[in-house]
Amino acid sequence: MKPTIGFIGLGIMGKPMARNLLKAGYPLWVHSRTRADVDAIVAAGAQAGASSADVAAHAEAVITMLPDSPDVEQVYLGPEGILAGAQPGTLLIDMSTISPTTAKKVALAAAECGCSMLDAPVSGGDVGAHKGTLSIMVGGSAADFGRAEPILLAMGKPLRCGESGAGQVVKVCNQIMTGVSLVAVAEALVLGAKAGVDPEVIIQVLLGGLARCGVLENRGNRIPRRDFAPGFKSRLHYKDLTIVQEAGRAYGVPLPAASLAHELFGALLAAGGGELDHSAVITVLEAMACTEVRSAKETDA
Ligand code: NAP
Repeated sequence: MKPTIGFIGLGIMGKPMARNLLKAGYPLWVHSRTRADVDAIVAAGAQAGASSADVAAHAEAVITMLPDSPDVEQVYLGPEGILAGAQPGTLLIDMSTISPTTAKKVALAAAECGCSMLDAPVSGGDVGAHKGTLSIMVGGSAADFGRAEPILLAMGKPLRCGESGAGQVVKVCNQIMTGVSLVAVAEALVLGAKAGVDPEVIIQVLLGGLARCGVLENRGNRIPRRDFAPGFKSRLHYKDLTIVQEAGRAYGVPLPAASLAHELFGALLAAGGGELDHSAVITVLEAMACTEVRSAKETDA
């Protein structure tokens, strides 16, 4: 009999991850802020908890997939939170992207309640969440990782990165790469398109050479069609780049390219684009260059 799992935070990522746990045969208790999201997963076979504490009380392991550090603090440490309901010995796995400092702080509070905690942020986006192919970066003890591994395998490929907080440190590295890559892809497409070359052609060529990258593979087919439905919301990537800045200061590492990406995402948010996919950062560069990247097929239509 597989252990009962609690899942809290059923957004763009959480819903498909919860579905993959159900498909793998785990009994599931869920909670989220928006009732419709809970109903969708209950319809797939889960049970609804009245609060985070209620979900934790029914589960041997609890997974959270929340937006930001304050949300994680509230859901774990708040009056109706996970630690108010969890039995000692419960395994807690936070898969949100938050600051390494908050991850360590919440893990210490969990340990005081007799619970083990792992930080386990992910990469691979909504596509990886649906396919169950997320790259999962785990911080915590080897013994807790051993308990979590079979559960995490239902959602992707887990790799232990070190002790508590190490998963979030690797996620910081990941967000430097994706943030800077998005800006590089945007600059290349803005220049190429303004010079009169079809962006679909540019993307096809770049994917065949050294400039090939995950961002181009994942979003390249959507940008020239002006499809900026999220995906990964720009306000969340801005949040991640803010965590990157904090980590740079904390560890004494200058991060000039990531700082530029942070400012460009800030400009996108200021222009009202926070709910758009993070690939919409190209619209900031388009505004600066007075042009728009659009496929020849779109322009002809
Ligand atoms: P999202 O769509 O905003 O989902 C977050 C979910 O948490 C929402 O359902 C939200 O409810 C719920 N929530 C927030 N506060 C809550 C609370 N106090 N109690 C219960 N539920 C609460 O975000 P997402 O895209 O799934 O991202 C989740 C995390 O994964 C973020 O840390 C993000 O940086 C990271 N991530 C995302 C991607 C991606 O491609 N989307 C990729 C890698 C990592 P409401 O809908 O009511 O606000």
